[in-house]
Amino acid sequence: MGSFDTLVVGAGFAGSVLAERLANVLGQRVLVVDKRAHIGGNAYDCCDAAGVLIHPYGPHLFHTNSDNIFEYLSKFTQWRAYEHRVLASVDGQLLPMPINLDTINKLYGWSLTSSEAEKFFASVAEHKAEIKTSEDVVVSKMGRELYNKFYRGYTRKQWGLEPSQLDASVAARVPARTNRDSRYFTDKHQAMPLHGYTRMFEKMLAHPNIEVMLNTDYRSVMHAVAHKHMVYTGPVDAFFDHRHGKLPYRSLQFRHETLQQAQYLPAATVNYPNDHAYTRVTEFKHITGQEHACTSIVYEYPSASGEPYYPVPQPESAALYRKYEAEVEQLQGVTFVGRLASYRYYNMDQVVAQALTAFKTIAAAQSFSFHP
Ligand code: FAD
Ligand code: UDP
Repeated sequence: MGSFDTLVVGAGFAGSVLAERLANVLGQRVLVVDKRAHIGGNAYDCCDAAGVLIHPYGPHLFHTNSDNIFEYLSKFTQWRAYEHRVLASVDGQLLPMPINLDTINKLYGWSLTSSEAEKFFASVAEHKAEIKTSEDVVVSKMGRELYNKFYRGYTRKQWGLEPSQLDASVAARVPARTNRDSRYFTDKHQAMPLHGYTRMFEKMLAHPNIEVMLNTDYRSVMHAVAHKHMVYTGPVDAFFDHRHGKLPYRSLQFRHETLQQAQYLPAATVNYPNDHAYTRVTEFKHITGQEHACTSIVYEYPSASGEPYYPVPQPESAALYRKYEAEVEQLQGVTFVGRLASYRYYNMDQVVAQALTAFKTIAAAQSFSFHP
């Protein structure tokens, strides 16, 4: 089957960035295997039967504050400037989410200024000596009523847990504002790959030294393929045969629909914190800018079983992960990178950053072994 310098498990952001760097910069021969039928991992996109570009694994919005990450990915794609906006369905209205000045004014029929909104938040905020959980982070900033209307139901649905059981970092991803900024993210760079994520991944992996094998579990080839090093981007507990117990992951079921109309939603995404079994509905054409007579949407239904999509940020899972982390540190010859392999709730740009850092470590070790 040939011999390779590195066997990369997983063709998502983590695996593709490392394969590209190892081949392009170090001239390594790299085999990338993925058990799925496509590259791109969860960021994979493709056209549905009607020809509308969709994200089969849910909406993926690229955003980063890092010039380096943006420049790096720009080697493989042009961009379409895009700022994501979300509405939350609360008390019969569609209101800007993250909560901002307009959210408060529309919700209560007020016309507060920014400084009055700040005073309002301060008047309803609950004092917390320490901000530990997702409940703490919200109620200490905007009080219990807004927490109940916008956060509690969504979080319970998404995670199957109370916000008080989740680390503060989860709800802190969506902070409230007192200005009128209605963007979901405030990062310096916010853009979509002009021709989609999959095209970007194809360019990353289009190197004569890189071979890609799809529909292949690494366990079925790892003994047949000679390699000096492995990069593993799958779930960390699966790598070790769950020897310390299964890490909890949250999954989603996606319900995709193609509609015979040009537009369906008033914004790219509508969140349903309090109604329905799904958390949100997203219409892809808002995000991709595609013009088409049909439109495609996706509903996200959280579930405990299924593909592992989200690590669960809570003290119990962190304690279990530390046992696997100790194994990772002991192991020679395998680099663990990515959202599932490092059990971190990482966005795409954070995974790219982690992969580029891992590449530097591998490159330094290689040059050390050449010039001891
Ligand atoms: P993955 O993309 O999961 O890739 C890992 C790959 O490894 C998979 O393709 C898998 O098939 C393969 N694999 C696993 N085990 C094996 C095995 N045994 N053998 C062979 N192959 C294996 N991030 C953002 O920045 N913005 C967003 O808007 C955003 N939205 C998201 C929405 C959803 C619903 C989800 C679930 C995630 C979202 N993310 C978003 C996060 C983003 O998907 C991840 O940060 C990123 O895709 C992780 O890349 P990765 O390479 O670590 O993992
Ligand atoms: N969240 C919420 N209400 C919302 C949106 C988000 O309570 O309308 C909380 C919820 O706990 C969610 C977390 O904030 O899991 C992070 O939201 P984000 O949109 O970043 O989630 P992702 O896109 O990663 O699924």
